[in-house]
Amino acid sequence: MNIKKIAAAALTAVMGFGLVACGSTATTSSTTTTGGATTTAAAGATTTTASGSTSGSFTTAEKGVLHVATNAAFPPYESTTDDGGFTGIDIDLANAIADKLGLTVTVDNMDFGSIVAAVSGGKSDIGMAGMSVTDERKKSVDFTDTYANSKQVIIVTEDSDIQTPDDLSKADKIGCQEGTTGYMYCSDTPENGGYGEDHVIAYNNGIIAVQALLAGKVDAVVIDEQPAKEYVKSNPGTKILDAAFTDEDYAICVSKNNPELREAVNNALNELKADGTVQQIIDKYITAD
Ligand code: GLN
Repeated sequence: MNIKKIAAAALTAVMGFGLVACGSTATTSSTTTTGGATTTAAAGATTTTASGSTSGSFTTAEKGVLHVATNAAFPPYESTTDDGGFTGIDIDLANAIADKLGLTVTVDNMDFGSIVAAVSGGKSDIGMAGMSVTDERKKSVDFTDTYANSKQVIIVTEDSDIQTPDDLSKADKIGCQEGTTGYMYCSDTPENGGYGEDHVIAYNNGIIAVQALLAGKVDAVVIDEQPAKEYVKSNPGTKILDAAFTDEDYAICVSKNNPELREAVNNALNELKADGTVQQIIDKYITAD
């Protein structure tokens, strides 16, 4: 089980980890990204060689480790397990990528809104959090190729008079997750297709937003489709409206200062797409309706 490989870095440890990372020597790795990687550590550098077609060298914040920033309240992409570990599509995919690079995954669990800064600042090596590629984020981080598609959907209570995306303009308050594309769209001005900041409440994660819906604090929640399905399943009395807005692509973000790591991760990702592993992982967590 992949979970075994994952050492959890608690949310409260993120700041502390950052300080440690700043004071330590970065690790340089050379790798080819096709399977059968072997790793040798020497003089502060982890050198990985494998019988692959693509090669390059990259650095990670900690020797032999791929620090993956995520927000583990976003099933089926990432969530916590009862024993304090992490599970989900992004977690399995991170482990598969790390395997190819001769690294071990450490999950850095944090608020979604902190991930881009953690990655651009080099505290975490990559961000995998069902993160949609946006022009705004591209100013701060680079992205790999995409590995999944999504859309924003609307969750309401079963008796709601909000029936379509247009009806959202009637909502007094819309609940979103802080720092997400759903928040960006909804809080935008009406001229730009949004509903205005005054009508949006940002929560730390989607689970809390759905609890606010059930408590009558918001009239609707706008969030990504797959987590929405999971939230609705575990919160009777809620439903997803048929009409969705926006199509989005998920990708892995990497620091702009680490193009070598982006290339290595991207090569690994593309190999995992080509050999069917990515689809297998997605199928493990998302079953057809
Ligand atoms: N896909 C959305 C975004 O990128 C939400 C991601 C998340 O909440 N984990 O903003």
